[in-house]
Amino acid sequence: MMKVTIFGTGYVGLVTGACLAEMGNHVVCVDIDAGKVDRLKRGEIPIYEPGLESIVQSNHASGRLDFTTEAAPAIAHGELIFIAVGTPPDEDGSADLQYVQKVAGTIGRHLQRYAVVVNKSTVPVGTADRVREAIAAELAVRQATVEFDVVSNPEFLKEGAAVEDCLRPDRIVVGTSSTRAVALLRKLYAPFNRNHDRMVVMDERSAELTKYAANAMLATKISFMNEIANIAERVGADVELVRQGIGSDPRIGYSFIYPGAGYGGSCFPKDVQALERTAHAHGYEARLLGAVEAVNRQQKGKLFELISRHFDGRLAGRTIALWGLAFKPNTDDMREASSRRLMEQLWEAGAKVRAFDPEARGEAQRLYGDRDDLVLCEHAMDALQGADVLAVVTEWKAFRSPDFRAIRATLAVPAIFDGRNLYDPLVVEEAGLAYYGIGRGRSL
Ligand code: NAD
Repeated sequence: MMKVTIFGTGYVGLVTGACLAEMGNHVVCVDIDAGKVDRLKRGEIPIYEPGLESIVQSNHASGRLDFTTEAAPAIAHGELIFIAVGTPPDEDGSADLQYVQKVAGTIGRHLQRYAVVVNKSTVPVGTADRVREAIAAELAVRQATVEFDVVSNPEFLKEGAAVEDCLRPDRIVVGTSSTRAVALLRKLYAPFNRNHDRMVVMDERSAELTKYAANAMLATKISFMNEIANIAERVGADVELVRQGIGSDPRIGYSFIYPGAGYGGSCFPKDVQALERTAHAHGYEARLLGAVEAVNRQQKGKLFELISRHFDGRLAGRTIALWGLAFKPNTDDMREASSRRLMEQLWEAGAKVRAFDPEARGEAQRLYGDRDDLVLCEHAMDALQGADVLAVVTEWKAFRSPDFRAIRATLAVPAIFDGRNLYDPLVVEEAGLAYYGIGRGRSL
Protein backbone atom coordinates (compact mmCIF):
# COMPACT_ATOMS: atom_id res chain seq x y z
CA MET A 1 0.00 0.00 0.00
CA MET A 2 1.40 3.39 -0.99
CA LYS A 3 0.22 6.87 -0.13
CA VAL A 4 -0.69 8.79 -3.26
CA THR A 5 -1.89 12.36 -3.84
CA ILE A 6 -3.40 13.45 -7.15
CA PHE A 7 -3.95 17.05 -8.23
CA GLY A 8 -6.88 17.30 -10.68
CA THR A 9 -9.99 15.10 -10.70
CA GLY A 10 -10.73 15.27 -14.44
CA TYR A 11 -10.67 12.33 -16.86
CA VAL A 12 -7.04 11.52 -16.07
CA GLY A 13 -6.83 12.37 -12.36
CA LEU A 14 -10.06 10.72 -11.29
CA VAL A 15 -9.52 7.56 -13.31
CA THR A 16 -5.89 7.26 -12.14
CA GLY A 17 -6.91 7.88 -8.52
CA ALA A 18 -9.70 5.32 -8.64
CA CYS A 19 -7.51 2.65 -10.31
CA LEU A 20 -4.63 3.19 -7.88
CA ALA A 21 -7.08 2.92 -4.95
CA GLU A 22 -8.52 -0.23 -6.52
CA MET A 23 -5.03 -1.78 -6.24
CA GLY A 24 -5.00 -1.10 -2.50
CA ASN A 25 -3.25 2.27 -2.34
CA HIS A 26 -4.49 5.11 -0.17
CA VAL A 27 -5.29 7.95 -2.59
CA VAL A 28 -6.23 11.56 -1.86
CA CYS A 29 -7.50 13.58 -4.85
CA VAL A 30 -7.27 17.37 -4.73
CA ASP A 31 -9.26 19.74 -6.92
CA ILE A 32 -9.82 23.50 -6.80
CA ASP A 33 -13.40 22.98 -7.99
CA ALA A 34 -15.24 22.71 -4.65
CA GLY A 35 -18.50 21.73 -6.34
CA LYS A 36 -16.82 18.79 -8.05
CA VAL A 37 -15.17 17.67 -4.79
CA ASP A 38 -18.54 17.83 -2.98
CA ARG A 39 -20.22 15.75 -5.67
CA LEU A 40 -17.41 13.18 -5.59
CA LYS A 41 -17.66 12.93 -1.82
CA ARG A 42 -21.37 12.15 -2.27
CA GLY A 43 -20.48 9.42 -4.78
CA GLU A 44 -21.63 11.42 -7.84
CA ILE A 45 -19.32 11.10 -10.83
CA PRO A 46 -19.03 14.33 -12.83
CA ILE A 47 -18.14 12.58 -16.12
CA TYR A 48 -19.42 9.53 -17.98
CA GLU A 49 -16.75 6.85 -18.23
CA PRO A 50 -17.63 3.15 -18.36
CA GLY A 51 -16.81 1.34 -15.10
CA LEU A 52 -15.71 4.48 -13.26
CA GLU A 53 -18.70 5.04 -11.00
CA SER A 54 -18.51 1.67 -9.27
CA ILE A 55 -14.76 1.79 -8.52
CA VAL A 56 -14.95 5.38 -7.29
CA GLN A 57 -17.88 4.55 -5.00
CA SER A 58 -16.48 1.29 -3.64
CA ASN A 59 -13.00 2.70 -2.97
CA HIS A 60 -14.43 5.87 -1.42
CA ALA A 61 -16.65 3.74 0.83
CA SER A 62 -13.70 1.61 1.91
CA GLY A 63 -11.67 4.72 2.79
CA ARG A 64 -8.94 4.20 0.15
CA LEU A 65 -10.08 7.11 -2.04
CA ASP A 66 -10.74 10.57 -0.66
CA PHE A 67 -11.44 13.99 -2.16
CA THR A 68 -10.47 17.41 -0.88
CA THR A 69 -9.86 21.03 -1.86
CA GLU A 70 -7.16 21.37 0.79
CA ALA A 71 -3.71 21.07 -0.69
CA ALA A 72 -1.55 21.17 2.47
CA PRO A 73 -2.79 17.97 4.18
CA ALA A 74 -2.96 16.23 0.80
CA ILE A 75 0.71 17.06 0.14
CA ALA A 76 1.62 15.85 3.62
CA HIS A 77 -0.16 12.57 2.78
CA GLY A 78 1.51 11.61 -0.51
CA GLU A 79 4.85 9.90 -0.99
CA LEU A 80 3.93 10.13 -4.68
CA ILE A 81 2.25 13.38 -5.76
CA PHE A 82 0.66 13.30 -9.22
CA ILE A 83 -0.08 16.37 -11.33
CA ALA A 84 -3.08 15.64 -13.60
CA VAL A 85 -4.49 19.11 -14.28
CA GLY A 86 -5.47 20.52 -17.66
CA THR A 87 -3.00 21.91 -20.21
CA PRO A 88 -5.36 23.70 -22.62
CA PRO A 89 -4.12 25.53 -25.70
CA ASP A 90 -2.87 29.11 -25.35
CA GLU A 91 -3.97 31.76 -27.89
CA ASP A 92 -1.12 30.70 -30.21
CA GLY A 93 -1.72 26.96 -29.81
CA SER A 94 1.10 26.20 -27.36
CA ALA A 95 0.20 24.37 -24.16
CA ASP A 96 -0.90 26.69 -21.36
CA LEU A 97 1.10 25.57 -18.33
CA GLN A 98 -0.45 27.89 -15.75
CA TYR A 99 -2.35 25.09 -13.95
CA VAL A 100 0.70 22.81 -13.82
CA GLN A 101 2.87 25.68 -12.58
CA LYS A 102 0.33 26.58 -9.94
CA VAL A 103 0.28 23.01 -8.58
CA ALA A 104 4.10 22.95 -8.61
CA GLY A 105 4.18 26.16 -6.56
CA THR A 106 1.63 24.75 -4.11
CA ILE A 107 3.71 21.60 -3.67
CA GLY A 108 6.80 23.74 -3.00
CA ARG A 109 4.94 25.75 -0.36
CA HIS A 110 3.83 22.69 1.61
CA LEU A 111 6.33 19.88 1.01
CA GLN A 112 7.87 18.64 4.28
CA ARG A 113 9.61 15.38 3.31
CA TYR A 114 10.91 13.52 0.26
CA ALA A 115 8.28 12.88 -2.38
CA VAL A 116 8.20 12.03 -6.05
CA VAL A 117 6.25 14.59 -8.08
CA VAL A 118 4.83 12.69 -11.04
CA ASN A 119 3.61 14.70 -13.99
CA LYS A 120 0.74 13.01 -15.85
CA SER A 121 -0.51 16.09 -17.67
CA THR A 122 0.51 16.33 -21.32
CA VAL A 123 3.24 18.98 -21.26
CA PRO A 124 5.86 20.32 -23.66
CA VAL A 125 9.41 19.07 -23.51
CA GLY A 126 11.29 20.83 -20.73
CA THR A 127 8.31 21.16 -18.37
CA ALA A 128 9.79 18.76 -15.80
CA ASP A 129 12.64 21.29 -15.40
CA ARG A 130 10.15 24.11 -14.94
CA VAL A 131 8.17 22.14 -12.34
CA ARG A 132 11.41 21.38 -10.49
CA GLU A 133 12.37 25.08 -10.57
CA ALA A 134 8.93 26.19 -9.34
CA ILE A 135 9.07 23.77 -6.38
CA ALA A 136 12.67 24.75 -5.57
CA ALA A 137 11.79 28.47 -5.69
CA GLU A 138 9.04 28.00 -3.09
CA LEU A 139 11.31 25.87 -0.90
CA ALA A 140 13.91 28.66 -1.09
CA VAL A 141 11.31 31.22 0.06
CA ARG A 142 10.67 29.01 3.10
CA GLN A 143 14.42 28.41 3.48
CA ALA A 144 13.52 24.74 3.63
CA THR A 145 15.69 21.87 2.46
CA VAL A 146 13.49 19.03 1.27
CA GLU A 147 14.55 16.45 -1.29
CA PHE A 148 12.19 15.64 -4.13
CA ASP A 149 12.23 14.19 -7.64
CA VAL A 150 10.17 15.24 -10.64
CA VAL A 151 9.20 12.47 -13.05
CA SER A 152 7.43 12.60 -16.39
CA ASN A 153 4.82 9.82 -16.55
CA PRO A 154 2.56 10.70 -19.49
CA GLU A 155 -0.90 9.21 -19.63
CA PHE A 156 -2.14 7.21 -22.62
CA LEU A 157 -5.67 6.31 -21.54
CA LYS A 158 -8.49 6.73 -24.07
CA GLU A 159 -11.71 8.42 -23.01
CA GLY A 160 -14.51 5.88 -23.33
CA ALA A 161 -12.16 3.06 -22.23
CA ALA A 162 -10.19 4.96 -19.60
CA VAL A 163 -10.66 2.56 -16.68
CA GLU A 164 -9.79 -0.45 -18.80
CA ASP A 165 -6.72 1.33 -20.23
CA CYS A 166 -5.60 2.43 -16.79
CA LEU A 167 -5.96 -1.07 -15.30
CA ARG A 168 -4.33 -2.74 -18.32
CA PRO A 169 -1.92 -0.22 -19.87
CA ASP A 170 -0.05 -1.02 -23.11
CA ARG A 171 3.00 0.71 -21.64
CA ILE A 172 3.99 2.79 -18.63
CA VAL A 173 6.42 5.48 -19.69
CA VAL A 174 8.57 6.81 -16.87
CA GLY A 175 10.96 9.66 -17.58
CA THR A 176 13.59 10.31 -14.94
CA SER A 177 17.23 9.78 -14.11
CA SER A 178 16.48 9.17 -10.41
CA THR A 179 16.82 5.51 -9.39
CA ARG A 180 14.99 6.29 -6.16
CA ALA A 181 11.98 7.60 -8.10
CA VAL A 182 12.04 4.64 -10.50
CA ALA A 183 12.01 2.22 -7.55
CA LEU A 184 8.94 3.90 -6.03
CA LEU A 185 7.09 3.94 -9.36
CA ARG A 186 7.99 0.29 -9.97
CA LYS A 187 6.42 -0.54 -6.63
CA LEU A 188 3.31 1.53 -7.37
CA TYR A 189 2.82 0.07 -10.83
CA ALA A 190 3.73 -3.54 -9.95
CA PRO A 191 0.08 -4.70 -9.86
CA PHE A 192 -0.43 -3.30 -13.40
CA ASN A 193 2.73 -4.93 -14.58
CA ARG A 194 2.34 -8.59 -13.65
CA ASN A 195 1.86 -10.16 -17.05
CA HIS A 196 5.03 -8.69 -18.53
CA ASP A 197 7.15 -5.62 -17.89
CA ARG A 198 5.34 -2.70 -19.47
CA MET A 199 7.49 -0.06 -17.87
CA VAL A 200 9.67 1.89 -20.32
CA VAL A 201 12.16 4.01 -18.40
CA MET A 202 13.80 6.90 -20.24
CA ASP A 203 14.98 10.45 -19.72
CA GLU A 204 12.29 12.98 -18.91
CA ARG A 205 12.48 14.93 -22.20
CA SER A 206 12.01 11.77 -24.25
CA ALA A 207 9.05 10.82 -22.05
CA GLU A 208 7.45 14.23 -22.57
CA LEU A 209 7.94 13.98 -26.33
CA THR A 210 6.67 10.36 -26.42
CA LYS A 211 3.17 11.53 -25.46
CA TYR A 212 3.02 14.16 -28.20
CA ALA A 213 4.51 11.77 -30.75
CA ALA A 214 1.84 9.16 -29.94
CA ASN A 215 -1.06 11.59 -30.34
CA ALA A 216 0.45 13.22 -33.42
CA MET A 217 0.88 9.79 -35.05
CA LEU A 218 -2.74 8.86 -34.34
CA ALA A 219 -4.03 12.19 -35.62
CA THR A 220 -1.86 11.76 -38.72
CA LYS A 221 -3.44 8.36 -39.44
CA ILE A 222 -6.90 9.93 -39.30
CA SER A 223 -6.03 12.92 -41.48
CA PHE A 224 -4.23 10.64 -43.93
CA MET A 225 -7.35 8.51 -44.36
CA ASN A 226 -9.51 11.61 -44.70
CA GLU A 227 -7.19 12.83 -47.43
CA ILE A 228 -7.56 9.48 -49.23
CA ALA A 229 -11.35 9.71 -48.73
CA ASN A 230 -11.40 13.13 -50.37
CA ILE A 231 -9.44 11.76 -53.31
CA ALA A 232 -11.68 8.64 -53.45
CA GLU A 233 -14.86 10.65 -53.79
CA ARG A 234 -13.41 12.66 -56.64
CA VAL A 235 -12.19 9.67 -58.61
CA GLY A 236 -15.26 7.48 -58.01
CA ALA A 237 -13.64 5.02 -55.57
CA ASP A 238 -15.01 3.80 -52.22
CA VAL A 239 -12.59 4.58 -49.39
CA GLU A 240 -14.09 1.78 -47.27
CA LEU A 241 -12.81 -0.78 -49.78
CA VAL A 242 -9.49 1.04 -49.99
CA ARG A 243 -9.28 0.99 -46.16
CA GLN A 244 -9.69 -2.77 -46.07
CA GLY A 245 -7.29 -3.17 -48.97
CA ILE A 246 -4.48 -1.31 -47.22
CA GLY A 247 -5.25 -2.49 -43.67
CA SER A 248 -4.48 -6.06 -44.69
CA ASP A 249 -0.81 -5.09 -45.00
CA PRO A 250 0.58 -5.76 -41.50
CA ARG A 251 2.92 -2.79 -41.86
CA ILE A 252 -0.19 -0.61 -42.08
CA GLY A 253 -2.76 -2.55 -40.03
CA TYR A 254 -6.50 -2.05 -39.66
CA SER A 255 -6.58 0.04 -36.54
CA PHE A 256 -7.19 3.75 -36.52
CA ILE A 257 -7.55 4.16 -40.28
CA TYR A 258 -11.23 5.07 -40.35
CA PRO A 259 -12.13 8.09 -42.46
CA GLY A 260 -14.84 10.33 -41.04
CA ALA A 261 -16.05 13.78 -40.08
CA GLY A 262 -12.75 14.75 -38.46
CA TYR A 263 -11.14 14.15 -35.09
CA GLY A 264 -12.05 16.13 -31.96
CA GLY A 265 -11.66 15.73 -28.22
CA SER A 266 -9.48 17.45 -25.69
CA CYS A 267 -6.22 15.87 -26.86
CA PHE A 268 -5.52 15.42 -30.59
CA PRO A 269 -6.34 18.98 -31.73
CA LYS A 270 -4.45 20.65 -28.90
CA ASP A 271 -1.52 18.25 -28.82
CA VAL A 272 -0.83 18.39 -32.58
CA GLN A 273 -0.89 22.17 -32.36
CA ALA A 274 1.29 22.28 -29.25
CA LEU A 275 3.90 19.99 -30.83
CA GLU A 276 3.94 22.20 -33.90
CA ARG A 277 4.49 25.24 -31.67
CA THR A 278 7.30 23.45 -29.79
CA ALA A 279 8.99 22.59 -33.09
CA HIS A 280 8.58 26.21 -34.27
CA ALA A 281 10.05 27.53 -31.02
CA HIS A 282 13.11 25.38 -31.73
CA GLY A 283 13.50 26.66 -35.29
CA TYR A 284 11.84 23.75 -37.10
CA GLU A 285 8.70 24.03 -39.22
CA ALA A 286 6.74 20.79 -38.72
CA ARG A 287 5.03 20.81 -42.12
CA LEU A 288 3.43 17.39 -41.74
CA LEU A 289 1.76 18.41 -38.46
CA GLY A 290 0.45 21.60 -40.08
CA ALA A 291 -1.08 19.50 -42.87
CA VAL A 292 -2.64 17.05 -40.39
CA GLU A 293 -4.39 19.98 -38.72
CA ALA A 294 -5.43 21.64 -41.98
CA VAL A 295 -6.98 18.41 -43.31
CA ASN A 296 -8.86 17.96 -40.04
CA ARG A 297 -10.19 21.52 -40.03
CA GLN A 298 -11.53 21.00 -43.53
CA GLN A 299 -12.93 17.57 -42.67
CA LYS A 300 -14.96 18.94 -39.80
CA GLY A 301 -16.87 20.99 -42.38
CA LYS A 302 -17.50 17.96 -44.61
CA LEU A 303 -20.96 16.98 -43.38
CA PHE A 304 -22.17 20.57 -43.65
CA GLU A 305 -20.80 20.78 -47.18
CA LEU A 306 -22.68 17.59 -48.17
CA ILE A 307 -25.94 18.68 -46.51
CA SER A 308 -25.73 22.17 -47.96
CA ARG A 309 -25.12 20.80 -51.47
CA HIS A 310 -28.09 18.44 -51.10
CA PHE A 311 -30.34 21.44 -50.44
CA ASP A 312 -28.64 23.65 -53.07
CA GLY A 313 -27.36 25.89 -50.28
CA ARG A 314 -30.89 26.68 -49.07
CA LEU A 315 -30.86 25.52 -45.46
CA ALA A 316 -32.92 28.28 -43.84
CA GLY A 317 -36.01 26.77 -42.21
CA ARG A 318 -34.74 23.18 -42.59
CA THR A 319 -34.48 20.84 -39.59
CA ILE A 320 -31.57 18.43 -39.37
CA ALA A 321 -31.72 15.37 -37.10
CA LEU A 322 -28.31 14.67 -35.59
CA TRP A 323 -27.18 11.43 -34.00
CA GLY A 324 -24.08 11.76 -31.84
CA LEU A 325 -22.89 14.83 -29.94
CA ALA A 326 -19.87 13.41 -28.06
CA PHE A 327 -16.53 13.61 -29.86
CA LYS A 328 -16.42 9.81 -29.87
CA PRO A 329 -18.52 6.93 -28.48
CA ASN A 330 -18.66 5.95 -24.80
CA THR A 331 -17.98 9.42 -23.47
CA ASP A 332 -20.01 12.54 -22.73
CA ASP A 333 -17.07 14.78 -23.66
CA MET A 334 -17.90 17.34 -26.37
CA ARG A 335 -14.61 19.23 -26.34
CA GLU A 336 -13.74 20.04 -30.02
CA ALA A 337 -16.42 17.56 -31.15
CA SER A 338 -17.25 17.48 -34.87
CA SER A 339 -20.94 17.77 -33.91
CA ARG A 340 -20.29 21.26 -32.57
CA ARG A 341 -18.85 22.57 -35.82
CA LEU A 342 -21.70 20.99 -37.78
CA MET A 343 -24.39 22.44 -35.51
CA GLU A 344 -22.80 25.87 -35.51
CA GLN A 345 -22.61 25.86 -39.34
CA LEU A 346 -26.24 24.70 -39.60
CA TRP A 347 -27.44 27.40 -37.20
CA GLU A 348 -25.46 30.01 -39.11
CA ALA A 349 -27.25 28.91 -42.28
CA GLY A 350 -30.66 29.25 -40.56
CA ALA A 351 -31.37 25.54 -39.97
CA LYS A 352 -32.61 23.94 -36.75
CA VAL A 353 -31.14 20.83 -35.09
CA ARG A 354 -32.86 17.98 -33.26
CA ALA A 355 -30.09 15.97 -31.60
CA PHE A 356 -29.72 12.69 -29.72
CA ASP A 357 -26.70 11.26 -27.95
CA PRO A 358 -26.77 8.36 -25.46
CA GLU A 359 -24.61 10.22 -22.90
CA ALA A 360 -23.76 13.78 -23.95
CA ARG A 361 -27.19 15.43 -23.73
CA GLY A 362 -26.35 16.97 -20.34
CA GLU A 363 -23.12 18.40 -21.70
CA ALA A 364 -24.94 19.76 -24.79
CA GLN A 365 -27.52 21.32 -22.48
CA ARG A 366 -24.71 23.00 -20.53
CA LEU A 367 -23.10 24.30 -23.73
CA TYR A 368 -26.12 25.25 -25.85
CA GLY A 369 -29.14 24.95 -23.53
CA ASP A 370 -30.36 28.49 -24.14
CA ARG A 371 -30.72 28.14 -27.95
CA ASP A 372 -34.16 27.76 -29.45
CA ASP A 373 -32.75 26.22 -32.67
CA LEU A 374 -31.60 23.10 -30.79
CA VAL A 375 -33.88 20.39 -29.38
CA LEU A 376 -32.16 17.69 -27.32
CA CYS A 377 -34.11 14.44 -27.65
CA GLU A 378 -34.44 11.52 -25.24
CA HIS A 379 -34.49 8.82 -27.92
CA ALA A 380 -32.78 8.41 -31.28
CA MET A 381 -36.05 8.21 -33.23
CA ASP A 382 -37.43 11.33 -31.45
CA ALA A 383 -34.71 13.35 -33.14
CA LEU A 384 -36.22 12.43 -36.52
CA GLN A 385 -39.70 13.79 -35.73
CA GLY A 386 -40.28 16.82 -37.96
CA ALA A 387 -36.73 16.61 -39.36
CA ASP A 388 -35.81 16.78 -43.04
CA VAL A 389 -32.67 14.64 -43.08
CA LEU A 390 -30.46 12.67 -40.66
CA ALA A 391 -26.74 13.28 -40.02
CA VAL A 392 -24.76 10.70 -38.02
CA VAL A 393 -21.72 12.24 -36.37
CA THR A 394 -20.57 9.80 -33.64
CA GLU A 395 -20.20 6.04 -34.14
CA TRP A 396 -22.08 4.89 -31.02
CA LYS A 397 -22.94 1.18 -31.24
CA ALA A 398 -26.63 2.09 -30.83
CA PHE A 399 -26.54 3.79 -34.25
CA ARG A 400 -24.98 0.90 -36.17
CA SER A 401 -28.05 -0.99 -37.35
CA PRO A 402 -31.08 1.26 -37.30
CA ASP A 403 -34.45 0.54 -38.88
CA PHE A 404 -33.92 2.31 -42.21
CA ARG A 405 -37.56 1.90 -43.26
CA ALA A 406 -38.72 3.64 -40.08
CA ILE A 407 -36.17 6.38 -40.72
CA ARG A 408 -37.45 6.75 -44.27
CA ALA A 409 -41.04 6.96 -43.06
CA THR A 410 -40.21 9.69 -40.54
CA LEU A 411 -37.89 12.05 -42.45
CA ALA A 412 -39.43 14.69 -44.73
CA VAL A 413 -36.55 14.44 -47.22
CA PRO A 414 -35.30 10.87 -46.93
CA ALA A 415 -31.52 11.18 -46.83
CA ILE A 416 -28.78 10.04 -44.46
CA PHE A 417 -25.44 11.83 -44.11
CA ASP A 418 -23.19 9.19 -42.62
CA GLY A 419 -20.24 11.02 -41.07
CA ARG A 420 -18.59 7.79 -39.87
CA ASN A 421 -19.32 5.45 -42.79
CA LEU A 422 -21.38 3.17 -40.54
CA TYR A 423 -23.80 1.99 -43.19
CA ASP A 424 -23.78 0.03 -46.41
CA PRO A 425 -24.90 2.56 -49.05
CA LEU A 426 -26.84 -0.12 -50.95
CA VAL A 427 -28.85 -1.16 -47.88
CA VAL A 428 -29.70 2.47 -47.13
CA GLU A 429 -30.71 3.15 -50.73
CA GLU A 430 -32.82 -0.02 -50.93
CA ALA A 431 -34.82 1.37 -48.01
CA GLY A 432 -35.59 4.43 -50.13
CA LEU A 433 -33.12 6.86 -48.59
CA ALA A 434 -30.44 8.89 -50.33
CA TYR A 435 -27.00 8.02 -48.89
CA TYR A 436 -24.03 10.33 -48.43
CA GLY A 437 -20.86 9.02 -46.79
CA ILE A 438 -17.26 10.13 -46.50
CA GLY A 439 -15.19 9.27 -49.57
CA ARG A 440 -17.66 6.79 -50.99
CA GLY A 441 -17.28 7.56 -54.66
CA ARG A 442 -20.71 8.88 -55.34
CA SER A 443 -20.85 11.89 -53.06
CA LEU A 444 -19.70 14.42 -55.63
P1 NAD B 1 -9.87 17.92 -17.13
O1 NAD B 1 -10.05 19.28 -17.66
O2 NAD B 1 -10.94 16.90 -17.29
O3 NAD B 1 -9.53 17.98 -15.57
C1 NAD B 1 -8.58 18.85 -15.00
C2 NAD B 1 -8.96 19.05 -13.53
O4 NAD B 1 -7.91 19.75 -12.87
C3 NAD B 1 -10.24 19.88 -13.31
O5 NAD B 1 -11.13 19.17 -12.48
C4 NAD B 1 -9.72 21.17 -12.64
O6 NAD B 1 -10.65 21.74 -11.74
C5 NAD B 1 -8.49 20.63 -11.93
N1 NAD B 1 -7.50 21.65 -11.52
C6 NAD B 1 -7.08 22.75 -12.19
N2 NAD B 1 -6.17 23.43 -11.47
C7 NAD B 1 -6.00 22.75 -10.31
C8 NAD B 1 -5.19 22.94 -9.16
N3 NAD B 1 -4.38 23.99 -9.05
N4 NAD B 1 -5.27 22.04 -8.17
C9 NAD B 1 -6.10 20.97 -8.25
N5 NAD B 1 -6.90 20.73 -9.33
C10 NAD B 1 -6.86 21.61 -10.34
O7 NAD B 1 -8.51 17.41 -17.78
P2 NAD B 1 -8.14 15.92 -18.28
O8 NAD B 1 -8.90 15.60 -19.53
O9 NAD B 1 -8.18 14.98 -17.13
O10 NAD B 1 -6.62 16.15 -18.72
C11 NAD B 1 -5.59 16.41 -17.78
C12 NAD B 1 -4.25 16.32 -18.49
O11 NAD B 1 -4.06 14.99 -18.98
C13 NAD B 1 -4.12 17.22 -19.72
O12 NAD B 1 -2.79 17.66 -19.81
C14 NAD B 1 -4.44 16.30 -20.87
O13 NAD B 1 -3.84 16.72 -22.07
C15 NAD B 1 -3.85 15.00 -20.39
N6 NAD B 1 -4.49 13.80 -20.95
C16 NAD B 1 -5.83 13.73 -21.12
C17 NAD B 1 -6.41 12.57 -21.63
C18 NAD B 1 -7.89 12.49 -21.86
O14 NAD B 1 -8.31 11.57 -22.55
N7 NAD B 1 -8.71 13.38 -21.34
C19 NAD B 1 -5.61 11.46 -21.96
C20 NAD B 1 -4.22 11.55 -21.72
C21 NAD B 1 -3.66 12.72 -21.22
